[in-house]
Amino acid sequence: MSNGFTTTILHSDLASPIEHFSVHKPMHVAAAFGYEDARDLAKVFKGEMPGYSYGRQGNPTTTALEAKISKMEDGIATATFSTGMAAIAAAFIALLRAGDHVVSSSFLFGNTNSLFGTLNTLGCDISFVDATDVQNVARALRPSTRLVFVETIANPRTQIADLARIGELCAERGLLYVVDNTMTSPYLYRPKKHRAGLVINSLTKCIAGHGNALGGAVTDTGLFDWTRFSNIYDNYKNVPPAQWGMQQIRKKGLRDVGSTLAAEPAHRIATGAETLALRMDRACANALQLARFLAAHPKVTRVYYPGLDNHPQHAFAMEHFKACGALMSIELADGIDCFDFLNRLQLVISSSHLGDNRTLAIPVAHTIFWEMGPQRRAEMGIADSLIRLSIGIEDLDDLIGDFRQALA
Ligand SMILES: *Cc1c(COP(=O)(O)O)cnc(C)c1O
Repeated sequence: MSNGFTTTILHSDLASPIEHFSVHKPMHVAAAFGYEDARDLAKVFKGEMPGYSYGRQGNPTTTALEAKISKMEDGIATATFSTGMAAIAAAFIALLRAGDHVVSSSFLFGNTNSLFGTLNTLGCDISFVDATDVQNVARALRPSTRLVFVETIANPRTQIADLARIGELCAERGLLYVVDNTMTSPYLYRPKKHRAGLVINSLTKCIAGHGNALGGAVTDTGLFDWTRFSNIYDNYKNVPPAQWGMQQIRKKGLRDVGSTLAAEPAHRIATGAETLALRMDRACANALQLARFLAAHPKVTRVYYPGLDNHPQHAFAMEHFKACGALMSIELADGIDCFDFLNRLQLVISSSHLGDNRTLAIPVAHTIFWEMGPQRRAEMGIADSLIRLSIGIEDLDDLIGDFRQALA
């Protein structure tokens, strides 16, 4: 894109004509779309004419949001879904078959980890590896490996996958490289830079930002050669190969599963996206200052944040990310009960969400990573006392003041 990130988002809807010259795409809430000429309806079904048939496959409001996300990720096409998990599930259901093998980072969002468990019962084999080193990914590859999946900055311990080298490895082997960009957002990092074929975003998090809508997206960067992917159904090869993957994700993942993003949350997400850059600049700046404050505090034993010099992937983050994100996790000194600490915080909300304008905190092992059990938690480096913080856009002094009093 030639304009800057925010300009592009702000003017994206106006790239196509909008009814009544409104300045952004309105909410289209109709479940169905009718045609004067029945032949046109048939053409829309066959993909011979652009248009909408039934709201489960999308509507003009979701299309406008999809165009915006494609621009944000510099991709060629995007499909939106009702949640981030729906986006991830749709991509896997559409693209994987029994007998396939997947290599995934072991540092994963808890529900993605659980979803891989389900795929395993359906006949897919998953290898979880420490993806901070490409060697571990390379060693796990098999002839049946269909895709490699990583997150950018892992939640909650903030490990950063070896994004550049994994991208090279996948390109060399002709493998589909899927990156969950939720934690960085396309403002901080574009996985396309390191040759990702598909990029996933939970729109619920920083892109919407206001904690008032759920959504997810899968973007095709245009870099993957779908003719090398053995799981495309013959009847979906009726379009140019660049569109094969997205067509199959839309048909098998969106239409058949029905995890459709409705127009109202799509509109809220689109509005939130307009200020993504402003909010991220502020939240990341807050996070860095707060991380430094906490790292120097005697009652905090560990701070995991890529913006700190002692983070193992600090240099990579500084080179490739615009900022180091708004997520960190901390461990408190022995004897401090993490629940008592959370209850002493006045501003910070105990909540499972992240990427919100408000600062949120959660005791990870007791909540979002509880279901997976102690062994998997240990593999992921999640101590019982670990607290995850998602930093918001509050005034920095207020935030630091709140942590200072809660630790006193
Ligand atoms: C939250 C999150 C998801 C899931 O998104 P939802 O919108 O909550 O379904 C997926 N991946 C990561 C990294 C997340 O943080």
